[in-house]
Amino acid sequence: MSGLLLDTDLSIEQRELAETISTSGDSLLGLINDILDFSKIESGKLELEQRSFDLRECIENALDVLGAKAAEKHLDLVSWIGPGVPPAIVGDSTRLRQVIINLVGNAIKFTATGDILVSVENLGPAEDGRHRLHFSVRDTGIGIPADRMDRLFKTFSQVDSSTTRQYGGSGLGLAICKKIVERHGGQIGVHSTPGEGASFSFTLPDREETPHA
Ligand code: ADP
Repeated sequence: MSGLLLDTDLSIEQRELAETISTSGDSLLGLINDILDFSKIESGKLELEQRSFDLRECIENALDVLGAKAAEKHLDLVSWIGPGVPPAIVGDSTRLRQVIINLVGNAIKFTATGDILVSVENLGPAEDGRHRLHFSVRDTGIGIPADRMDRLFKTFSQVDSSTTRQYGGSGLGLAICKKIVERHGGQIGVHSTPGEGASFSFTLPDREETPHA
């Protein structure tokens, strides 16, 4: 409704007020969704689908959601899928998309200039014979100090208290990502050089149903 209101003739002051209602509504919705997701995970009620899905489509969908936000900040949003990544994998596509949206959303939030690269590589077979897929979201933003990296995947944690003031957010997104990735049998981590950017990545064991490309 606030979107429709913003499409009507408004004075400058009315427009500012309607924009504030719209962004506040969005952040409230984001916060409620995060809290609901987290409590679902904590109470063991998160059911994951185990279905074959199109990996490229899943990544494209996630990037479509955030394309406008990246364009608003004049950031290039690029994806790269390496050779040997199977066209379809088995898992929960909605939850995987949620992880990618979260990581790319953060990358956009904490980057003022430059680009964001989402990539997927096939690391080849591990000891158990299953291939590992390596997903990474790299940005050229503010980065994260080394002594703060561990805490980011914990609930309600942010780099420091000024983060909320400057960028908003609940500090729940990465904790949710970690749980989803771990429930898929994978691991998530981060590398960063403060001032130059951050790179969040996760690996998933490949339970593909189709032969490797
Ligand atoms: P939120 O973004 O809602 O605060 P998250 O759990 O997604 O919650 O992120 C936790 C914190 O990790 C952020 O508040 C920020 O301090 C830091 N962070 C996450 N992604 C990045 C990034 N790409 N660059 C710099 N800092 C980041």
